[in-house]
Amino acid sequence: MILRLFNTLSGQMDDLLPADGAVLRMYACGPTVYDYGHIGNFRTFLQVDLLRRTLHLFGVPVRHVMNITDVDDKIIRNAAAAGIPIADYTPRFEQAFLDDLQSLAVQRPEVLSRATAHIPQMVHLVQQLAARNAAYRTDDGNWYFRLSSFPDYGKLSKKDLEGMADGARVDVDEYERDSARDFALWKATPAGETGWDTPIGRGRPGWHLECSAMAMEYLGESFDLHAGGEDLMFPHHENEIAQSESATGKLFARHWFHVRFLLVNGRKMSKSEGNFFTLRDLLLRGYKASAIRLALLSVPYRHQLNFTFDGLLEATSAIDRLRTFAARLRAAQLPSGSMPATMAAVAAARQSFLEALANDLNTAEARAAIFEMVRQGNIALDADQLLTEDRDAMLHLLDDFDSVFAVIADHDAEPTRAAIEWARANGQLDSVAPELIAADSLTDAEIDARIEERNLARRQRNFRRADQIRDELAALGILLEDSRDGVRWKRR
Ligand code: AMP
Ligand code: ZN
Repeated sequence: MILRLFNTLSGQMDDLLPADGAVLRMYACGPTVYDYGHIGNFRTFLQVDLLRRTLHLFGVPVRHVMNITDVDDKIIRNAAAAGIPIADYTPRFEQAFLDDLQSLAVQRPEVLSRATAHIPQMVHLVQQLAARNAAYRTDDGNWYFRLSSFPDYGKLSKKDLEGMADGARVDVDEYERDSARDFALWKATPAGETGWDTPIGRGRPGWHLECSAMAMEYLGESFDLHAGGEDLMFPHHENEIAQSESATGKLFARHWFHVRFLLVNGRKMSKSEGNFFTLRDLLLRGYKASAIRLALLSVPYRHQLNFTFDGLLEATSAIDRLRTFAARLRAAQLPSGSMPATMAAVAAARQSFLEALANDLNTAEARAAIFEMVRQGNIALDADQLLTEDRDAMLHLLDDFDSVFAVIADHDAEPTRAAIEWARANGQLDSVAPELIAADSLTDAEIDARIEERNLARRQRNFRRADQIRDELAALGILLEDSRDGVRWKRR
């Protein structure tokens, strides 16, 4: 199968194949690690995961690079407010991001690259641009890209950039999304503020520069595919193209993949709107990681998706149906042989499934093909008409489906447990759904450790802390009894 995928750059559906005939080289813009990601962000990462898993299913090896933006205005601002260096501020959020990816069964990219570990490559890129007169330095030490030096500017977003003011400068990461002016490559920083001493002066890289430098570092000057959410198309990706192609004279990425937004009541889910849910929020309300994954994948990437709790419930019951059917198939005692009609139906389902994915990752149709097979399989099982080879063909197709959708194999307990753990550590147990607070959510050893911690607090006469631990355990259904010979506990 060959994947036909909409290409923002060409404006049409293109076959997606590795230019070198071997490995498909792709870059996806990663997170800015200043806070926890919301599930809008994860819709984009999930759709990129679906793309790479589909390529695997179609037999195409992938080299996937994702950046971690660990320096930018927001990070610097938040770290300063917390009174710590950025290098002490970002690791917590980077780890939370990686944990969330794992919870959502997102495969790790082959390369994860932190911006702060690639400053020399970024400086080199600025020097290349300066040598071609495409970058200039201002008196305050900032470096800008000279937009007028790149006539192709706008070719990705197809914006009409007539009248774009050359020389009007934008130097923050968080400028208005529709400004198209000379953009900052490098921002000068005074001593005492986050910055690096480099041949182009003391400062720090702009966000656009990071992605160009790291993409070319790991994938070469020209590569197959570049991905991100729809908001990144302009100006971020347009700027990446301008910087990279000005420096190398070569086409930067051949194919551009943009995932449309997750919405809430018709508006983009975003931090600034305040209308967002993190993965933890939803896990603590009792929704399963698999259901969140399926809900975010089931609407094809080129359609915006409105987030609703009903959507999560629908995904939950869809997954139940799949898991129940798979278990039923595995457990059934069947006569050997095969039914031609059943084998033909499974072959047809496989064909529809693969064709739907090959047709611009049409997840809705791919999913529907599998559910049609489940319906027919259940009827055949009810009528005692399924034979061993029919069963094997069905299980094989379910496996292929799950190599892309990754929702049938049940990995749901661990993310939920980790979220409860997180709520406990962050004093947020009151946001945990009561049905999750089951007495068996902690092991005996964990309970003993918490009691030991409480004993220590009491010995240190920190009774507030001791009471807090007792209350937290009580919220988890574990009751403590102080007695003469120590503390006894029991599960409610
Ligand atoms: P950020 O950390 O803000 O740079 O965003 C990380 C990724 O999430 C980018 O690819 C964004 O385009 C994407 N993104 C942000 N908000 C949404 C949303 N509501 N729906 C889908 N993708 C989003
Ligand atoms: Zn980027």
